[in-house]
Amino acid sequence: MTGQILNGNSMDDYPLTLTSIVDRAERFHANRGVISRRPSGDVNRTTYGEVAGRARRLAHGLAALGVRDGDPVATMLWNQSEHLELYFAVPAMGAVLHTLNPRLFPEELSYIVNDAQDNVIIVDESLLPVFETIRDSREFAHVVVVSHTGDIPAGMLDYESLVANNEPIEWPVLGEGRAAAMCYTSGTTGRPKGVVYSHRALVLHSLVVALPDQFAVSARDTILPVVPMFHANAWGLPYAAALAGAQLVLPGPQLDSESVLDLLAAEHVTMTAGVPTVWMGVLSSLDAEPDRWDLSALNRLIVGGAAVPRSMLEGFDRHELSIVQAWGMTETAPLGSVCRVPEDLDQASNSDRYNYRIRQGVASPLVDIRARDDEGNLIAWDDTAMGELEVRGPWVAASYHHGQGAASFTADGWFSTGDVVRIDPRGCIRICDRSKDLVKSGGEWISSVDLENQLVAHPDVAQAAVIAVPDDRWGERPLAVVSLHPDVDPSVDKLRDHLAQDFAKWQLPDRFEFVSEIPSTATGKVKKSELRKRFTTEP
Ligand code: ADP
Repeated sequence: MTGQILNGNSMDDYPLTLTSIVDRAERFHANRGVISRRPSGDVNRTTYGEVAGRARRLAHGLAALGVRDGDPVATMLWNQSEHLELYFAVPAMGAVLHTLNPRLFPEELSYIVNDAQDNVIIVDESLLPVFETIRDSREFAHVVVVSHTGDIPAGMLDYESLVANNEPIEWPVLGEGRAAAMCYTSGTTGRPKGVVYSHRALVLHSLVVALPDQFAVSARDTILPVVPMFHANAWGLPYAAALAGAQLVLPGPQLDSESVLDLLAAEHVTMTAGVPTVWMGVLSSLDAEPDRWDLSALNRLIVGGAAVPRSMLEGFDRHELSIVQAWGMTETAPLGSVCRVPEDLDQASNSDRYNYRIRQGVASPLVDIRARDDEGNLIAWDDTAMGELEVRGPWVAASYHHGQGAASFTADGWFSTGDVVRIDPRGCIRICDRSKDLVKSGGEWISSVDLENQLVAHPDVAQAAVIAVPDDRWGERPLAVVSLHPDVDPSVDKLRDHLAQDFAKWQLPDRFEFVSEIPSTATGKVKKSELRKRFTTEP
């Protein structure tokens, strides 16, 4: 028997675009605050109403510079109100917001701005030295400077004039499949790859981010994203906050723990978010001076981007501050899963609860997960079998920009994350390993393959393997396991100096272990799992 009412087309085909979020912030949350700390430390107070109004003028100004439908507009900015104006203006005018991470190496940034074909770039004055390192690698049509001193270098344009000298525009009607924003991954040994987010993806992402068991964003919140707006859309918080009418506190460049704590206390922040490294520093400051900051308004810290060690959960619990762990990737916009303790564990022992909270959580609504073992078989959700996590969903990339990295997408439409997981019967994941050969230190990737290649280039070295070891402060640090040629004396200094010729200091392994032979798998690959077992302990 077939049903009689199969056609749902009687519902309005209303497009899901960020314009709705921008409009909503302007109409309904016009008086809610957007607080920005300037590089000088001064605090600037504005509102969603003003930000949205200025975004309309800015869009006019950008169009006058030649920005057309679908053109990227690059930003090299901190978390600051101008960045929010661009988050509003660029997608709503039909262009594509391309956030650049100023912490990348100049070669990476140069590659990225050329791959994306950025012609207009907005740079904060304090980041002009970074911009200078890539200036010659691309002929930008316009460089626009957000100045705090009033000085605009010759040949560059003043952001404020671009806003002030143009009339506000009406937003065009856009289709939901249109590109809204893009961000490059830094998480591979190969070239960075562009991820392009559609309006639809970011609207659905914002709705789900705001749900009570996700990040729980409400009009009563004051949110301080420590996670940069150039890092995977600041985990969706700017749009989710604008949608809900939560106040935003944007910390600018000062992200040391005392500056973060000062702002959390002064602005009565209710929710904050960032990578574990930031919070390790914050925890040390809190431990040293527990009564210095009044954080009574703060009821959750969203922590992700790298594993949250148990010691950190315990440390914040001691200060009655609750950490919620989340997992995500640039390719997943980034929300993928959130770890919320289920009700039936309320009465469980402390230890059981911590064992749950160190996990990466249950897939967010609308995100599907599965994991496959080395033979390609789906693993059981028994918390024992291990496999590479695959995801799909309305805000998960289906391809990279220019079709790069096609091997990361399965034939049946899933994205392979490179994270090796166990999944428990509730569907809660635990990342145990990474098939992508990288170390993530302080939120930045270090390629173990590159370090290995350089190590074996040394005449004393027969074989080398670099693994990530858990580190309380940095999340992970590289450890080099080296086997030397016969009759060579081990010398850490010699190897470190050799690596220092090609790597930045923070990328150098902290530890070197000398072994007679490096274990290998049947296919001749280094058996890193065995090395990890031997040289690391769980965080
Ligand atoms: P992000 O922008 O969040 O750093 P990247 O795409 O650079 O995203 O890196 C994503 C990777 O970071 C994931 O594939 C995973 O390896 C790691 N990661 C993210 N969140 C967590 C977490 N909560 N626990 C462990 N690893 C994580």
